[in-house]
Amino acid sequence: MPAQGGHKGRPYVKLNEGKMSRTNWRVAVLSFLTITFGAWTAQAQRPIQETDLPPAPSPDSSGSTAGAAQTEAAPSSEVNRESPALSRVIDSFIQRENQLIKNLQNYSPRMEVYLQKVRPDPELGAVPDGDYYFLGQVRLQHDKAVVVRSFLKGAGPGTGLFKNASAPISHYFSMQFSPTTFFFSLTMDNARFDRQHYDFELVRQEFLGDLRCLVFDVRPKHRARGGLLSHRADVGLFEGRIWVEDQDYNIVRFNGTFTPAPANSVYYHFDSWRENVQPGLWLPVYAYSEETGVKYGLDRTLRFRAQIRFWGYGLQTANRQSEMTRIAVDSSSDVRDSSDSAGDSSPVASERAWQEQAEENVLDRLQQAGLLAPHGAMDKVLETVVNNLIVGNHLANLPEIHCRLLLTSTIESLAVGNTIILSRGLIDVLPDEASLAAMLAHELAHIVLQQTVNIDSTRWAFQDRLMVKDEDLLRYLNFRPSEHDEEAADTKAVELLKNSPYKEQLGRAGLFLRAMANVAPSAPELFGAHLGSRLVEGDHVRRMAALMNGAPQLERTKVDQIAALPLGARVTIDPWNDAARMVKAKPMALVSAREKMPFEVTPLFPYLTRFPAEQAAQGERVSPSR
Ligand SMILES: [Zn+2]
Repeated sequence: MPAQGGHKGRPYVKLNEGKMSRTNWRVAVLSFLTITFGAWTAQAQRPIQETDLPPAPSPDSSGSTAGAAQTEAAPSSEVNRESPALSRVIDSFIQRENQLIKNLQNYSPRMEVYLQKVRPDPELGAVPDGDYYFLGQVRLQHDKAVVVRSFLKGAGPGTGLFKNASAPISHYFSMQFSPTTFFFSLTMDNARFDRQHYDFELVRQEFLGDLRCLVFDVRPKHRARGGLLSHRADVGLFEGRIWVEDQDYNIVRFNGTFTPAPANSVYYHFDSWRENVQPGLWLPVYAYSEETGVKYGLDRTLRFRAQIRFWGYGLQTANRQSEMTRIAVDSSSDVRDSSDSAGDSSPVASERAWQEQAEENVLDRLQQAGLLAPHGAMDKVLETVVNNLIVGNHLANLPEIHCRLLLTSTIESLAVGNTIILSRGLIDVLPDEASLAAMLAHELAHIVLQQTVNIDSTRWAFQDRLMVKDEDLLRYLNFRPSEHDEEAADTKAVELLKNSPYKEQLGRAGLFLRAMANVAPSAPELFGAHLGSRLVEGDHVRRMAALMNGAPQLERTKVDQIAALPLGARVTIDPWNDAARMVKAKPMALVSAREKMPFEVTPLFPYLTRFPAEQAAQGERVSPSR
């Protein structure tokens, strides 16, 4: 019925004034597929044979059937083409996919979108030309509507509450990016993934990471009826390719777009990946979106590349567990306190404890909201570098300094109490240890100068002040130092670096800053600070700019001058427990300057594995290696 058409359909981007012909649309699809598969020529690819098909589980053995899958017979001629084994496989993955849509309704993952518009460049291939950022929390409701809550400051597109079910088409009249559009990189079809709406064609067998997959092409059935739409519910059906792992028949990747789009509108292309985040549970983790030639307006062309990330699936569980842990710790410390004869605090010790209380409250709250990674191995790496600075400068009286990781792709750093926080995006793009040391030295200088522990910082020692909703946290917390403090910290930081093991390599750090200044005007959102202050404003570097004086000139087309890395180059996040881990990619020799891609969005190819059986038995989670 028509009222449900908008309800179940996908949001799409309405082209501003322009018209997209059917011809252009098909060209966009084809070029996307070519690019994607060009990168996979090394994969074992051969035509699939009937004997390759493993026996499919009966519907009863593969989880709940509870009305999710719609597997009634399609027109008989098509059924006859399928062997019984193939039919069972198709029925299984349809059922699994509908189960995934049900499972998704139990979680409120964090969703982050970072999109770079790109323009052609004769020497570098493509360069950033404007950007868009979204960070928030998403939820698929039981009625299949999508609720998106932005974590970001300010109004405008990408903030507030969106309900796909009620979002009118006219909402997308201009070429503005909306978070709901990207939410649909999660699933192919929330309500119609069945044999009534789709045809499935087995293509081949292929490995994705450790997983042997069956590859199917998926087409909406209405194509077979001459492309005529019977009613609005047929808008926005998935068309593309899926990869199905061969044990339980979960769809682990899909690649394609949605069709048909209403007049003057366009759907984006997505290459979307799921991971085995818990025993038996596969959930969407990454998607890459790219458009290379969407015409709009009178003569404008939209080209972009975007990474969409989902994490924090286990947050609700984790918070309950940490509450239990805290209760256990509290009761044991009560016992210890009562038997401890030297339990009184001096006024100085009380003051420090009060400051620490405030710091701990802030860090705990950020972690609960899925914004801060739990303390882990990555922090130790950063703390080692901080320690090199401390030892070189004989700062023996300093309190213990900790490092933590902000989970955002945007590039920022800050200090809260005696804790230095670097964003995932910043660590990703840093080319070497000296540049990392320079970023840490600035925050360490704030701490050394006692700027982070002051009369205002203790306000967070009262827990009620942090009892705000997750989505309000970034609007509410502010750790921006004054301009005076920033300058003093820069001066102190240069002094710290000059007495450190990094003193001979400060030119590299200066080169990183030059690269930042070069790209920042075309990617302002990437340098948007959500808790601290901006590193760069326009092309003006606001942090440690003195280091640029001793740095070599930035040579963008020189292959062996690596001033900054692409986004996503170093850190991956466990989508269940938010733990951060260093990427274990082999270093590759670059063919040309086009492959340097500093601060740029690149496609995502996670290495897929199954959830390790021994961890499943222990009930704990360590990221599978990539
Ligand atoms: Zn600062």
